[in-house]
Amino acid sequence: MKNAIVSNINKKSRKFNDSSYYEKEIIGDYFLLPFRFHKINSEKEVLVNEVGDFVMLPIGSAQKIIERKISRTDDEELYFDLISNFFISEESIPTLLTVLEARYRTKKSFLEDFTALHIFVISLRCEHTCHYCQVSRVTEDKEAFDMSRINIEEGIKIMMKSPNNHVTMEFQGGEALLAFENIKYAVRLAKEAALENQKHITFVICTNMAPLTDEMLPFLKEYNIMISTSLDGPDYVHNKNRHRPQQNSYEVTIAGLEKCRKELGEENISALLTTTNLSLQYSHEIVDEYVERKFRNIFLRPISPYGFATHNEKKNKYQTEKFLEFYKTAFERILDHNRKGYFIREDYATVILKKILTPFPVGYVDLQSPAGMINNVIVFNYDGKIYASDEARMLAEMKDFTFQLGILGESSYNDIFYGHKAMEIAETWTNEALAGCSDCAFQQYCGADPVLNHATQGNMYGYRPASVFCQKNMEIIRYLFELMEDKAIEKIFRSWITGHSE
Ligand code: SF4
Repeated sequence: MKNAIVSNINKKSRKFNDSSYYEKEIIGDYFLLPFRFHKINSEKEVLVNEVGDFVMLPIGSAQKIIERKISRTDDEELYFDLISNFFISEESIPTLLTVLEARYRTKKSFLEDFTALHIFVISLRCEHTCHYCQVSRVTEDKEAFDMSRINIEEGIKIMMKSPNNHVTMEFQGGEALLAFENIKYAVRLAKEAALENQKHITFVICTNMAPLTDEMLPFLKEYNIMISTSLDGPDYVHNKNRHRPQQNSYEVTIAGLEKCRKELGEENISALLTTTNLSLQYSHEIVDEYVERKFRNIFLRPISPYGFATHNEKKNKYQTEKFLEFYKTAFERILDHNRKGYFIREDYATVILKKILTPFPVGYVDLQSPAGMINNVIVFNYDGKIYASDEARMLAEMKDFTFQLGILGESSYNDIFYGHKAMEIAETWTNEALAGCSDCAFQQYCGADPVLNHATQGNMYGYRPASVFCQKNMEIIRYLFELMEDKAIEKIFRSWITGHSE
């Protein structure tokens, strides 16, 4: 028995054969170019090439192509489709390979400008006590949890060193507006510095609206500051998710929303949804609330496994399957509204659809390879510590400092962005080089998330078969392909990409 195993191993040598061996293997008229495939349902599979172009074909087509059973005479249309989309080639190295190279460079060109988004955690104080809080906020009176002016200045200095000519300064909390005087100081200073450094700067404040006063509005308007708030659905969902002693979070959010829309313009206000266990029961009501409030987009976001969100398992640790069920029922409702003539798009799907249906680069921090952390976003915490992403600082609030890159005022730009820690993270932030992702058909539409891998699986590299990130993305991408078979839905999807209905 033992000898039989040994002789089998000997037969299957892993050495490369001479090139003539491989030429003999080419049975048909064509050579295969790199592509991957995935089953969409019992009838269809999708083939995706290196730059994310796809063809949807009947099940079994990939096998036929690989076995050289497609011919230019019997399958003329498919054959030439495959040639023109770089799935197969009649030459071992296609003459138009440079076109493919250029398209690959374009797809990855979101990396060229480097870090744009600079998050300043201006205060960890908050007057809400949301049970899913991911940043482990502290109560309102603890001014020790505000970012010092020295740290604000140091953060701005780093931001001005970014090679990117368009930077975004985003204020987060806790509740950012509780530190409004510091926000004013930071915005004025950053605006001056941006002028000096010839940079275009955009300001964003993330707020639950509760501390918003009429006196703040002229300043927000003067500096064209965008507002990002939280809206979890109708009052009976929002107020249960987002606690205030007065139990009126929904009411203050809506009042603030209307005020900001009037003063700052609709286009400058956006809202984010967090999906809790309670939300799962109200997919239609949540979508309808966004429509009623005249939003043109909604982001169906699962809860992140960081901060206080990890303390309340019953409320927050539902299975990814349940989130996907919620996602699909809410998504159907969104499509219904579009069918009836109200334009509203789902943000996560729109990012993926842009990757699937356009040749353009899409640098969305949570879904890109190399990952958005450091490359597109950096976080300056209230205490001066610098983190690789927002999730990395949430982890730090749980006393896990794995993704800390440095300290404001002490670490140089090079230490932060190109130091040992950044290099260590870089080893796992490219999905092209991760087991599981490297041969996944959805690689070009997906991303890598070393922080989530570390938080949920204990290491940055991660293990795809048990990854919640993988499970969620693989199913959502498959689902979008399946829906796109319906030409009316594809038309809606295309309108989401362009940003307006036809
Ligand atoms: S995470 Fe999953 S879906 Fe995404 S590229 Fe990797 S294997 Fe594919």
